[in-house]
Amino acid sequence: MSHNWPSVLSRFAEGVQHLVWPPRCLTCDAPTAADHFCADCVTGLTTDHPHRCAFCAGTVGPHADATAPCFRCPKAKYAFGSAVRFGLYADAVRRAVLQMKQPEGELLAFRLGELWATHRRDELLAMHPQVIVPVPLHRRRRWQRGYNQAEELARGLARTLQLPLAAHALRRQRATDLQANQSATARWDNVKDVFAVRSAAGVRGLRVLLVDDVLTTGATCHYAARALSQAGAAQVHAAVVAHR
Ligand SMILES: [Zn+2]
Ligand SMILES: [Zn+2]
Repeated sequence: MSHNWPSVLSRFAEGVQHLVWPPRCLTCDAPTAADHFCADCVTGLTTDHPHRCAFCAGTVGPHADATAPCFRCPKAKYAFGSAVRFGLYADAVRRAVLQMKQPEGELLAFRLGELWATHRRDELLAMHPQVIVPVPLHRRRRWQRGYNQAEELARGLARTLQLPLAAHALRRQRATDLQANQSATARWDNVKDVFAVRSAAGVRGLRVLLVDDVLTTGATCHYAARALSQAGAAQVHAAVVAHR
């Protein structure tokens, strides 16, 4: 289990900021009397398309077979059993995902994790997770950014769902190229076998909720889930803020 330093500091900064009236929304900066997010942003962040693929969390049509992978899912199965998302990579959710990687995005990621867990509690607990594990950044990128947005999301989820967080269960063994402009095939090659489990004892026999910000091809979550399964995790399910 990890210490809480980055969030303690940024929550302290938030507390100081809230002494200045009025408090402001973390995503749109509008003055708001609500906690952390204004009413419009809460609506935007928590309203999702009703039909999603249970395997990759992609949007599907209303008549899609809910028990089968969708047309976007790879032919070979994912190493995670199912995937849930907070929303589609568009509008308020997309803005929040981009802001999480900016300076001061650490607190936004943490609060977004709390909001997600508050609004989708049943969906997130449906797979009965016993521990929450974030997808790690490579140590060099983490050092550059100062935090890992997936870890802060996971921290917010863990606190609200009252589940243990294993923030450093996984390690990214090499720096990978930024994936934004890569083809699907290149994305799979880029993250192949990039993850390793630090301590199998922390995940062995447990149902793991694997947390990341965005799922595009599912390659990152697949290889992270595969490493966890190979270390003895009983099940791995993926939870992402946005499906692209
Ligand atoms: Zn707002
Ligand atoms: Zn799918």
